[in-house]
Amino acid sequence: MYEEAQSFWDGLKNEKLCLQRCKQCEQYIFYPRTYCPEDFGELEYAEVDPVGEVITYSIVERCAEPSLIPYLPYVAALIELDSGPKIFGRLVGVSLPLGNPLFGQRVKGEFVKQGELDMIAFKLE
Ligand SMILES: [Zn+2]
Repeated sequence: MYEEAQSFWDGLKNEKLCLQRCKQCEQYIFYPRTYCPEDFGELEYAEVDPVGEVITYSIVERCAEPSLIPYLPYVAALIELDSGPKIFGRLVGVSLPLGNPLFGQRVKGEFVKQGELDMIAFKLE
């Protein structure tokens, strides 16, 4: 774990999605970094609403990460958060095979335990 990400993980532990926001251009960013990728502005953490929409996704049938094996097969989705940044997450409550494509579907974050890890997953709204 790297230092810039500490508040992100602490947030998840407290069931909050906390992302970095640039003090200069006020954009939220993800993944955690040292400076804003747009203007090298200083970053601070703030809580965001864990809601957004599915940009794209893939059905994962095999993986090497032990904490994810119990969930196989699962849908891994790229979510565009309403606050701006994109974040990867596992979709919960989706039955496979999928009936309809998930592109553009609204999702809401759900705080879950993934093995020892506090994590965020997403549920279709
Ligand atoms: Zn900035």
